[in-house]
Amino acid sequence: MLELHSHTTCSDGSLTPTELVNFAAQKGVRALAITDHDTMAGWEEAIAAAAPLDLEIVPGLELSTVYNGRSMHILGFYPNAQKLQAPLQERVEGRKRRARKMADKLAALGYPIELPNMETAMAPGRPHIAAALKQAGHVNSHNEAFDRFLKDDGPAYVPYEKFTAQQGIDLLLSCGAVPVWAHPYIFRGGTVETVLPILVEAGLMGIEVYHPTHNTSQVRKLEAYCETYDLLMTGGSDYHGPKKEKNPDFKDLNALAVSLELLPPLKAAAIALKA
Ligand code: AMP
Ligand code: ZN
Ligand code: FE
Ligand code: FE
Repeated sequence: MLELHSHTTCSDGSLTPTELVNFAAQKGVRALAITDHDTMAGWEEAIAAAAPLDLEIVPGLELSTVYNGRSMHILGFYPNAQKLQAPLQERVEGRKRRARKMADKLAALGYPIELPNMETAMAPGRPHIAAALKQAGHVNSHNEAFDRFLKDDGPAYVPYEKFTAQQGIDLLLSCGAVPVWAHPYIFRGGTVETVLPILVEAGLMGIEVYHPTHNTSQVRKLEAYCETYDLLMTGGSDYHGPKKEKNPDFKDLNALAVSLELLPPLKAAAIALKA
């Protein structure tokens, strides 16, 4: 089937692109999007690993933006990598500055941590800080790290550097990428009903309808919105690796069994954007 949302060690996933690709093939995934947070660094290795397999790699990313002061994730599919490279690098540098700020806050609270080496291509996120807190013996689990320190408005939380959803959508469109609102019902800065029309006006082209955090009634609502606003539908497990404890809404790869029929319209939209 189709998996249009996954993470690797290039951001906060725990499998390397090669490991993820092999696991996806084993699970029966036929097309897999690599959508790391703010980086395209995993594609090349994933495409090479998938070459001998019956598995298509969909190039993508998950852009971190801010809307109404809250974090909003926008997936981008099939970007022109050359165009997107430099602006994304700035987003990754922002993630590194943010990781250092969270470490500073934790130190001030009396919980010093050792940050992972950030010289490499990695896009650090809160899960890396959670791992460092566990490593330092300050917490026993990722959940505890989020509950006590890292959750939105937690004492060590630092928001993304300012980059609005509108700017994110503009950037993706200007690079030929199809912008899709990731997991809308996780968003805390407004209701889907009120925010969606504004995003559509800004150029949004799709909604991630199928996601482990969405219940059946939410999925039905999102399907209806796609119909109303003539939007593309995507879906995926937002897979971060086999460790359940890392993600409270863990679903195994391919567990959502998203239909392959969603892929051709997405591809056609990406081609039309570049024409
Ligand atoms: P960031 O983009 O750095 O703010 O990190 C977001 C990532 O943190 C998400 O993609 C999830 O993998 C993870 N995450 C967010 N909230 C929680 C939570 N309450 N418990 C565990 N992991 C979480
Ligand atoms: Zn993540
Ligand atoms: Fe996300
Ligand atoms: Fe994600």
